[in-house]
Amino acid sequence: QSPASLFRFDNSYARDLPGLYVSWRPAEVPSPRLLYLNEELAEELGLDPQALRGEEGAALFVGNRVPEGAQPLAQAYAGHQFGGFSPQLGDGRAVLLGEVIDRHGLRRDIAFKGSGRTPFSRGGDGKAALGPMLREVIIGEAMHALGIPTTRALAVAATGEPVIREQVLPGAVLSRVAASHLRVGTFQFFAARQEMDKLRQLAEYAIARHDPDLAGQPDRYLSLLARVGERQAALIAQWMNVGFIHGVMNTDNMTISGETIDYGPCAFMEAYDPTTVFSSIDQQGRYAYGNQPLIAQWNLARLAEALLPLTVGDGHDEVAKQAIDRATAVVHAFSGQYKAQLLQGQRAKLGLQPSAADDADSALATDWLALLQAHAVDFTLGWRRLADAAAGDEEPLQALFPGQPAALDEWLDRWRARLAADGGAPGERARRMRRVNPWIIPRNHRVEEALEAASAQDDLGPFEQLLAALRDPCTERPGHERYAQPAPAAMTASYRTF
Ligand code: AMP
Ligand code: MG
Ligand code: MG
Repeated sequence: QSPASLFRFDNSYARDLPGLYVSWRPAEVPSPRLLYLNEELAEELGLDPQALRGEEGAALFVGNRVPEGAQPLAQAYAGHQFGGFSPQLGDGRAVLLGEVIDRHGLRRDIAFKGSGRTPFSRGGDGKAALGPMLREVIIGEAMHALGIPTTRALAVAATGEPVIREQVLPGAVLSRVAASHLRVGTFQFFAARQEMDKLRQLAEYAIARHDPDLAGQPDRYLSLLARVGERQAALIAQWMNVGFIHGVMNTDNMTISGETIDYGPCAFMEAYDPTTVFSSIDQQGRYAYGNQPLIAQWNLARLAEALLPLTVGDGHDEVAKQAIDRATAVVHAFSGQYKAQLLQGQRAKLGLQPSAADDADSALATDWLALLQAHAVDFTLGWRRLADAAAGDEEPLQALFPGQPAALDEWLDRWRARLAADGGAPGERARRMRRVNPWIIPRNHRVEEALEAASAQDDLGPFEQLLAALRDPCTERPGHERYAQPAPAAMTASYRTF
């Protein structure tokens, strides 16, 4: 079967939302070459991976051959970037190819990134370099393996075209799969233009797609806001519990679905420090690790502002006042939801049942993190070695804290007393803890090494090996130690992803 007829598209965005996008074809490129195909994801989408390999598959994944049933389009969106509002961003180097219903009955977007200029490109070239697209594969697949909602890479294909950045780099197109590409910024675009009919259509579409149980309810727009808040609270708590730093939490990079999107300057933290920033464009540390929950709430407030006009009309009656109060309450509720989600994750990481007071367990977690910070302990290994300590093997944990600090022993005494209150077998507890305290995360130096080999030497070996290691992050196994070791301290201090 020709790969071009493999996809069974059902393009609801194109069908239901005319006027909210521009129909647009990906640009043709000279020499397509398929570098990565996510076979597991292809199968989930009902595609035959074998049929997607070969020349035709490469032509498809660079955008040269638009598959049957696709309706490629560029989506309009706006966004607050580093706090400042840009009324028109949009897909400047992306096109939505279409939607398919996957094996589980879920609607998934398939979109290209790096497929050429669009009417939203502004000054940009519409292209993507290979390195950043492979980074998106690595981090997205790592997040997926860690059980964190995320967009995923289906394929990366080289274009054969140079991309000019600070250096000349090989060009590539990423095929990205998402629950949808609806962003806070999509709503902001139409709200800012006061296009109320389009804004309402968009809200109805989002409800039908992500929260169909709300359809037809009188207060559904603010209920949608509440759902987005709940999903984001859960998502950010998961990020925080694995040390993930998104790096560019602009409102156009915050999804309605609750999936992580846009792996640009993101990275995982090494030594624990809430002020960690890896992106050189983030001079003020706005998107530092420790700010992420507050920024998500700030973004939610921007979504509230965009949705409120649908409910309040001209804002001068009792109905309007009630709507504003409810939206305000939803935004405020985010903090409590986030804290509850964070604590749920922390309890699992600490090996605790939810049997003691929230405040006490939360303080135990906070004091543990303070210890990691005070002694510049690697976040991932600190948690992982705590699982060993739960099994009775305390040596590896002590080895992470130079100078045997008394504060560690004091904390461990408190923790053990708390574990004793829960009861249960130590071996079983350690097993549970290891399932939520990964051994392997995408370490910055390993990611860089893989991207460098691919970009400079056309060698995808390190990329494939890293990806394979990341697929099973919680199992300690011989031969993979190199992926579990922190980066040399000197590299981490100056490390910049962007
Ligand atoms: P991002 O920072 O990746 O979230 O992108 C912000 C905006 O810049 C989006 O509208 C992108 O489509 C656009 N953009 C990023 N890179 C390029 C590029 N090379 N060419 C055109 N538009 C781009
Ligand atoms: Mg973006
Ligand atoms: Mg980006």
